[in-house]
Amino acid sequence: MLTDNHGRPVTYLRLAVTDRCNLRCLYCMPAGGLDWVPKSELLSFEEILVLLRVASSLGITKLRLTGGEPFLRKDLMDLIRRIQKERLFPQVSITTNGTLTAPWVPELKSLGIHSVNLSADTLDAARFARMTRRAELAPVLETLDALLHVRLPARINAVIMEGKNEEDLLALAELSTRHPVGIRFIEEMPFNGSGGYQPIRWNWKVMLDKLREHFPTLEKIPDEPHSTSINFRIPGAPGTLGIIPAYTRSFCGTCNRIRITPKGMLKTCLYDEGVLDLHAMLRHGAGIAEIRSAIVQAIGHRPANGFEAETRRRNHEVGESMATIGG
Ligand code: SAM
Ligand code: SF4
Repeated sequence: MLTDNHGRPVTYLRLAVTDRCNLRCLYCMPAGGLDWVPKSELLSFEEILVLLRVASSLGITKLRLTGGEPFLRKDLMDLIRRIQKERLFPQVSITTNGTLTAPWVPELKSLGIHSVNLSADTLDAARFARMTRRAELAPVLETLDALLHVRLPARINAVIMEGKNEEDLLALAELSTRHPVGIRFIEEMPFNGSGGYQPIRWNWKVMLDKLREHFPTLEKIPDEPHSTSINFRIPGAPGTLGIIPAYTRSFCGTCNRIRITPKGMLKTCLYDEGVLDLHAMLRHGAGIAEIRSAIVQAIGHRPANGFEAETRRRNHEVGESMATIGG
């Protein structure tokens, strides 16, 4: 098993297959979108497969496909079919905004996908349109229905933003009393693609206080090993609630994850600026053994936490869009 220089096992890879997106969430990118990575610089289907085979051989057991919006990539389903055919990872999950996902849900279920995370910061159509700058709540809810219908484990990720969707904390939490879905509230991070991050009011503690005030019997449930969320249940509810201190970064001590960006940069911490250019290695003809040993070496230099990763940055401050990282 891969272990980093702080003794933490590394077993989880998040791969962003594209930076492109059909939504423009306020906390993720500016209204005009990003300077999209030229297609020629995105990892190709074959390059992704090579990197995934390497990851699998290094002992990664859990893969999450994310983006940008992964379902904008035309070859996404072919990629998933191939990953599952080769049985590369015991657990393959997807994070999606859900706008294009519903038609694929039955096949995702039959391919053995472990779970799907949907981003939905509100259940109110007008607020959804303001938060994402697109009026697309209906297809997201269709995806949720489809997931529940085929019993594919579903989670909803919601970023709570001051003055934007504060009321949705409780409305979304109530959804967990009606459906077997995990609702996870995420602290807003500076990865908004435009800079200008303000200190957040809605940190994990404020969210928890609000939930406790409204649901006084809220019960703590065990957190899975390496979980980034602190988890709860409203007694009797089929679903669960989680709070992710993504900006507070209190979970770094048990972090088991690495990331590959759409351009093929390896990140050993969400807050680093990319530590190894895997795409360049592939294009310069590096073999599997060379790529494997470069990854092992990078994991041997992992920062202890997100704060250390931030101070190690050379090129720019934290502020790139989450769509270029993979969330
Ligand atoms: N487009 C897909 C989606 O929205 O689920 C996958 C990619 S998105 C970058 C992955 C996750 O990152 C989403 O759950 C989104 O809410 C979260 N995210 C994006 N920007 C964020 C930010 N600035 N702070 C906290 N979470 C953020
Ligand atoms: Fe797109 Fe996801 Fe970013 Fe929203 S959070 S703009 S859906 S990549």
